[in-house]
Amino acid sequence: MNLERLVRPNILKLKPYSCARDEFKGRDASVFLDANENPYNASLNRYPDPLQEDLKAELSQVKGVPAEYMFLGNGSDEAIDLIYRIFCEPRKDNVVAISPTYGMYEVCAHINDVEYRPVLLDEGFQMNAKKLLAATDHHTKVIWICSPNNPTGNCMQRQEVETVIKEFPGIVVVDEAYSDFTQARPFRSDLPLYPNLVVLNTMSKAWASAAIRLGMAFADPSIIALFNKVKYPYNVNILTQQQAREMIHNRPKLQQWMTTILTERRHLMPAVAELPLCKQIYPTDANFFLIRVTDASRLYNYLVDHGIIVRNRSRVALCDNCLRITVGTPQENCELLSALRQYKD
Ligand SMILES: *Cc1c(COP(=O)(O)O)cnc(C)c1O
Repeated sequence: MNLERLVRPNILKLKPYSCARDEFKGRDASVFLDANENPYNASLNRYPDPLQEDLKAELSQVKGVPAEYMFLGNGSDEAIDLIYRIFCEPRKDNVVAISPTYGMYEVCAHINDVEYRPVLLDEGFQMNAKKLLAATDHHTKVIWICSPNNPTGNCMQRQEVETVIKEFPGIVVVDEAYSDFTQARPFRSDLPLYPNLVVLNTMSKAWASAAIRLGMAFADPSIIALFNKVKYPYNVNILTQQQAREMIHNRPKLQQWMTTILTERRHLMPAVAELPLCKQIYPTDANFFLIRVTDASRLYNYLVDHGIIVRNRSRVALCDNCLRITVGTPQENCELLSALRQYKD
């Protein structure tokens, strides 16, 4: 892989915005008259650290990824959009992705006017490296893989993902938003082996903090430098940085929630599977699962009438009449089951 040839020429030669606070860095100061901030209303009056160094140092411990390999953004969604803006020339380049998968890869492709090439998974929702590679051409800059995959729930076979990373001469993104829910070895542990790998993580799922909007991209420092060049200078606000650190210090609680969710999943899935309405239930490595029913829209509306919202994935490739159900609290799962049991198919 030749990183300079992958990056858009305008980004390669871009001179990024220089933050006031960047220029004095490393020296001591107590009077800050450089950024036109208001001197009152501490602790919210100052611009936050543009590179979030304290938070990255703590996340580095948790994730086992050095801070130089880390980009933090306003949700993973920011990292997804930045990947297009860094690598993909509108109307010229294209990207390849497994299908079905997380919808934002395609939406961001269209926003950036980049061709999106979905490659169908097999009936077991597994990807095939050869098929993905065959969909690429000279203008393919990025391959999107999601594992555990949304909305199917399963992990991609490690061997197939490795083949794609090794053989594709562009960027391979492995979105591991749900990796905390599985025993599978995460790809973020293998970053030093693969200079073209970008791994996405988020605080929105296992970390129980969707509201604070904190996403992570892990990659070789040369790729991280590109993210930092293109991002908004102060892209992660101070409240988010503080709350994220609080969650890191709160790990016993998180661990307890995680255990409860996995126990609930273990009880809920077989109970749903034995209902007559359930034609198929798919194995999962995430905090949600996919079921196939006779008429997904009818069941969806029935549940809405009972105040229960699930995700109707019927219009997604390979997911005819499928609903995606998130594992909730014991009480919520109980309400779901009791509604499902009263449903007349
Ligand atoms: C939920 C989810 C995310 C999270 O996105 P955020 O912007 O960090 O909330 C990312 N990828 C996948 C596959 C998801 O399902």
